[in-house]
Formats: sequence, structure tokens, C-alpha cells
Amino acid sequence: MLVTSTGIVDSQGLVDSLSREIEEEEYIGDKGVGVGIGQGTHGRVKERGEGVIVPGTRVVRIDREEKGKGWVVQLETGWEGKEEGEKGEVEAVRADVVVNTAGLAAASLLEGIVPESEQVKMYPLKGEQNVVTAKKGEMEQSLIIGNYVSYKGPGVYFVSRLIYPCPSRDLGSLGTHLTFDLSGNIRFGPDAEPIGSPAAYSQNPDFWQDHLAPSAARIQSIGDAVLTYLPGIDPSLLEPDYSGIRPNISDKGFFDFMVRHGRDRQGLIECLGFASPGLTSSLAVGEMVAKMVRKDIWKEKASVEHLAEGWE
Ligand SMILES: Cc1cc2nc3c(=O)[nH]c(=O)nc-3n(C[C@H](O)[C@H](O)[C@H](O)COP(=O)(O)OP(=O)(O)OC[C@H]3O[C@@H](n4cnc5c(N)ncnc54)[C@H](O)[C@@H]3O)c2cc1C
Repeated sequence: MLVTSTGIVDSQGLVDSLSREIEEEEYIGDKGVGVGIGQGTHGRVKERGEGVIVPGTRVVRIDREEKGKGWVVQLETGWEGKEEGEKGEVEAVRADVVVNTAGLAAASLLEGIVPESEQVKMYPLKGEQNVVTAKKGEMEQSLIIGNYVSYKGPGVYFVSRLIYPCPSRDLGSLGTHLTFDLSGNIRFGPDAEPIGSPAAYSQNPDFWQDHLAPSAARIQSIGDAVLTYLPGIDPSLLEPDYSGIRPNISDKGFFDFMVRHGRDRQGLIECLGFASPGLTSSLAVGEMVAKMVRKDIWKEKASVEHLAEGWE
């Protein structure tokens, strides 16, 4: 099946562009004037360009405000390079609205706020979503690492588009596919490699470091998978590229990501389990969250669609 509209996203470019929209009033020019992005002090609507991004700052705790309806968010700076048990500088801010999009850390930040019945467990997964074990239908209860390998060699000279093998029967995985980096070089991946139990990474500080590069056996199995649809490649020319870990919220079969605004947690929006495709859907999810804030928290009746006009 030929799909002519497939492509890749420059993820860092997208993030940089969104950051500039938040911080720089003039970034997009005239079109942006008067478009509100959030409520400022005294109910004034903030304009694009009035936001602040604080890199190197991490949220360590979120609590309900004791008196009032807001949230108290504790932030830590200067934490990088500190020894176990040492702390950077911690300060607290009060917020009416908190949107938790902390990826792999999103579920743990909710401990103590969300009742047990609504707690979401994280099953970090490096690579594709689901791995079926020998026992039919059961999922491997272990961490799965996903590796990409790069390739320069024969068998791909006429390839100009992404190539996906047929999806697995349970739709649990897209399979080891052919994609490109931003310079147009070919990559194959991701595979799905179990690397231990969820307890293992909390006990070993070098856990992720140890698993960054795929073993020779892994590279060979990626090569075998690719040979099924590109028989002309030379597997000996595959080189380790990059790998990633997904914030899985289920260890059973297919699951979708979750955007939640709990009834008893007014003002706290939770974005959980964005294993995939969080990058492709990020702008749509952002619009949906903006709608939730305006409708459920600020009780505004007007739709937000008009705010996006001219921004496409
Ligand atoms: C191998 C692989 C291939 C993928 N391929 C695709 C694809 O082709 N298409 C697609 O759409 N998606 C793909 N994805 C999925 C996509 O990367 C995710 O869905 C997306 O990144 C999730 O976005 P997020 O903002 O929820 O989390 P993240 O991208 O993980 O962002 C979370 C951010 O929060 C920060 N953070 C964490 N804890 C804290 C804290 N306590 N305080 C402050 N900040 C914190 C992190 O540093 C990070 O910057 C792939 C993922 C992997 C692993």
C-alpha cells in the first residue's frame, strides 16, 4: 500500500518553534497579536510571547493548596550532578492549573494526590508497544528497550519513503520499519528487547546507560527482520543508532494514552502513557487540553477553535 503523505517530524525543531511562540511576542508576527494562551494575574488573558520556560528545573512534588482551590508545585533547580540524597535548590509556586506531561515521570508525580483506585502504573518500555510472550496473548512483564540501527549500503538505492512491514495480527507493534534521520540517512527500527524487571532499574543507577547500545545479536535480529521486506541489504553494514523508552501504562495488549481531569482534582490535568504517537498528535492534544482548561476550569462557553485561525 503506497501512502504518499508519510514523513518524519523534526522533533527538536517543533519543540524549539513552540518554545519561541511561548516566549517571543514577535516570533510569528502580526497574526499572533491578541491571541490569548492562558489566564494571567487578575484574570487578564496572557498573550503569546508572555510565557516563560525554565529548563533545568524539575517538579519534585505536587500538592493541593491547603486553603484555596489551587495547587502547590515544588520545583528543584541545580539538581544535575548531585549525589544520591543531595538536593538542589527547591522553591514552590502556586498554580490554578497544572498540566502534568512529565512522560516517564508523570505517573509517579501523582502519587499521594490520586486515589489508589485511579492510580496508573508505569511499565517503561524501550521500543514498540507490546511484546507477546511464548504464552499466547500474555504480555512480557519486563522492561523493553527499542533500538534503531543506521544503514548505508546496497539494497536501498531506490528507497525514498518510509517502509513498514505488515502490522502484527494484534496491532501490538508496527514492526521493525525503515525510516530516515533528518539528513535523509536510512535507519531501521525500533525492535523490542526485554531488559529486566521494573525493579531492576530502581536498584541499578547505571541501568539505562548499560542498555544504550544494542548487542551484536540484537543487530543481527534487526537485520533478519529487515531482510523479509528488503532482501538486498547487507546486514553486516548495520550500525547502532539511537534508542528510546516509552511510558507504557499497561502490560497487557494494546492500550491508548490518557488525558484525564479527575472530578475531585479540579485544575490538575494528567497526560499519561504517551507511548505513541505522542509526537504526531501533540498539537491536537494541546488543543484538547486548552479546551478542557477553558471549559472545565475557567467555565468559558466559547469554543477555542477560532484561536487557532491563521496559525496553521
Ligand atoms: C523508539 C521510539 C519511537 C517513537 N516513534 C514515534 C513516532 O514515530 N511518532 C510519534 O508520534 N511518536 C513516537 N514515539 C513516541 C513519542 O516519542 C512520545 O509519545 C512523546 O514523546 C510523548 O510526549 P510526552 O510529552 O508525553 O513525554 P516526553 O516526550 O517524554 O516529555 C516529557 C518531558 O518531561 C520532562 N520531565 C520528566 N520529569 C519531569 C519532572 N519531574 N519535572 C519537569 N520535567 C520533567 C522530561 O525531561 C521530558 O522533557 C516514539 C517513542 C520511542 C521511544
